[in-house]
Amino acid sequence: MHDSISAMAAAQPFYLEGLNDPQREAVQTLDGPVLVLAGAGTGKTRVLTTRLAHLLHTSRAYPSQILAVTFTNKATQEMKERVSGLMGGQPVEGWWLGTFHSLAARMLRRHADLVGLSSNFTILDPDDQVRLLKQIMEVNGVDHKKWAPKAMISFIDRWKDRGLNPPQVSGDEAGDIAGGKLPLLYEVYQRRLREINACDFGDLLLHMITILKDPANKHVLDEYHNRFRYIMVDEYQDTNVAQYLWLRLLAQGHNNICCVGDDDQSIYGWRGAEVGNILKFEKDFPGATIIRLEQNYRSTNNILKAAHGVISRNDGRLGKELWSEAGEGDKIQVRGLWDGEAEARWVAEEIEQLQRKGQSLNGVAVLVRAGFQTREFEERFIKLGLPYKVIGGPRFYERMEIRDALAYLRVIVQPADDLALERILNKPKRGLGDTTVQTLYAYGRSHGINLYDSIMDLTQTDELRPKVKTTLMKLLDDFGRWRSLVETMDHAELAAQVLDESGYMQMWKEDKAPEAPGRLENLKELISGMQEYESLPEFLEHVALVLENQDQSGGEFATIMTLHGAKGLEFDCVFLPGWEEGLFPSQRSMDENGLKGLEEERRLAYVGITRAKRRAYISFAANRRMYGSWVNAIPSRFIDELPKEQTEVQSDLGLAGSGRSSHWDSSGFAPKAQKRQVASQTHDRKVMSESGTVFQRGDRVFHDKFGYGKIINIDGHKLDIAFEKSGQKRVMDSFVEKLD
Ligand code: ATP
Ligand code: MG
Repeated sequence: MHDSISAMAAAQPFYLEGLNDPQREAVQTLDGPVLVLAGAGTGKTRVLTTRLAHLLHTSRAYPSQILAVTFTNKATQEMKERVSGLMGGQPVEGWWLGTFHSLAARMLRRHADLVGLSSNFTILDPDDQVRLLKQIMEVNGVDHKKWAPKAMISFIDRWKDRGLNPPQVSGDEAGDIAGGKLPLLYEVYQRRLREINACDFGDLLLHMITILKDPANKHVLDEYHNRFRYIMVDEYQDTNVAQYLWLRLLAQGHNNICCVGDDDQSIYGWRGAEVGNILKFEKDFPGATIIRLEQNYRSTNNILKAAHGVISRNDGRLGKELWSEAGEGDKIQVRGLWDGEAEARWVAEEIEQLQRKGQSLNGVAVLVRAGFQTREFEERFIKLGLPYKVIGGPRFYERMEIRDALAYLRVIVQPADDLALERILNKPKRGLGDTTVQTLYAYGRSHGINLYDSIMDLTQTDELRPKVKTTLMKLLDDFGRWRSLVETMDHAELAAQVLDESGYMQMWKEDKAPEAPGRLENLKELISGMQEYESLPEFLEHVALVLENQDQSGGEFATIMTLHGAKGLEFDCVFLPGWEEGLFPSQRSMDENGLKGLEEERRLAYVGITRAKRRAYISFAANRRMYGSWVNAIPSRFIDELPKEQTEVQSDLGLAGSGRSSHWDSSGFAPKAQKRQVASQTHDRKVMSESGTVFQRGDRVFHDKFGYGKIINIDGHKLDIAFEKSGQKRVMDSFVEKLD
């Protein structure tokens, strides 16, 4: 019944045409374990899709007998489309294609009873997880002020990533975290989840592993062994231990597992991925066929050599060199610009020029290291009417924390803005829950007044609980004070003060969720961006117009997304902005993981460059406005690592042709006109991180607006300063420069 490979070679099916020899081997080696270990753009994903089509075409397997794992939902979608394309457009039904989580959830629903759940179990989101653990901590006498529940949850998540149930967690693992009680908390947490018929994301795989490993459930494992004749995994370098264990259990039946990956593209170590999984594939799956692909079909040779120049600095690589028939192509454009705004302007200009040459916007991407970077590009693109989409997250001004911050500012300018006020009434948590809001609205309706005025009225009566009343009075007081500052205070500075005094910043600082630092960065970027506008009302007007002006209907659009999100994708032209020390490589990543962190950042650079088919543009700014102060940025070390022959360095900063930038001194390089213009705003500020400078009473400082002064008092981040010309003022520390 099965065609033999040689018979097929005689009349080769159309989908095998055009594949090179090792690719074809990978598609046609259906029996036994196969690992395709190869660099970017060599057709690994294409091998997987073709293999799927091949299995179906040759009737080797029904769709339901194939398990195919992709890394993201987007990749799942693409694979569906590609395979159905290869199958003459007919949709393929009934197969097990999806992400690890989605596939494991589907399985667990069928066997939930084996781990004490019923099949309609709820999947908790991270907020619920934290709430549940917090209750458990209270009951077990662990101080949740000292041990943040979110941090405890991430320990538990990491254990789950490693496939560890509570009994397998030894006391040593947790040390004296939570007074040595973390393993106990984990155990109780798992028990509570069962009691409420719920599981968290980590449980989806963990429970399945538990079920499949238990000899008592041999029938279940047998069933899956029978079912899944073929298993395929894309981006194998980013699997964690739990994912790996799950795969290995399932593959033990037919042993037909095909994984594809690239050790140089492992970029999820921070989420528990183990690049070691790919390196020990041969040991785990004895008799494996290892296939290397070296021809790249995506990029020009200049792009490949540039990417190679960077990645070759990493230690412990398997090492591979790629070549392409696409010719040398254009050199990588490396561009130094004065600041972030100039960078965005340059990128937009280049994109427009590409468009004029016939480049479709769909083939253009801006790939950023950190989410906050998108703002400057979005602003510029909107201004020019250049259609774009932010993939993998909301647009800058639509992000939750930005909307919250804007809501505060809207209420200051416009107290009757009920929607804005309601949004932040209990953010951060102040004990103003739904009941209070209902009471306020009911009063407002019956008196025909807005929320703000209702608060004014009701705080004069005894209708509210004393605690609620006090809280509301304080809030009114705050808003009154902030409003009184609008005329006299710099609006960006006021915004910083509002976010500080309201406790909103603090809320995110205390938040231990992995996305919290990104949200803080966004808030700081918001404040930086405000400085480009004259006043608070003008800025709010701008945002309103931007938000309204988002016609996303049809048509072509450029893509803005993070480097992490771009894995596996490709674009004709790729812009890689913000290549500056601290931003990329990310300081946080290096601080937390040292050399390992730096190497992961370098792999991210490799992923970024290799997304480009024809053109890659790398840029860095000499100055970044960070939360009110200008920071002199140093070009990324990755720029130094780009081979000279493949790059064309152009700089507005006097760097042209040097190619080496780390010895660069910022002073004197800027074109004169620009320098003067910015200098008047910055007064030659030194590098200053948000918390980097230590202020003391008596320090002499400089403030953009108020000039020279002396600190006379310190209240948290607020400094009382006696200014020589403008008298005593209270300002945020991040807005003043300490003088020696
Ligand atoms: P990454 O490591 O970035 O995930 P990859 O190895 O999965 O890359 P693919 O995305 O499968 O690479 O392929 C890169 C590009 O090369 C795609 O546009 C694909 O269609 C094309 N390609 C792959 N193999 C061939 C081939 N034999 N002939 C022509 N084009 C090919
Ligand atoms: Mg791929």
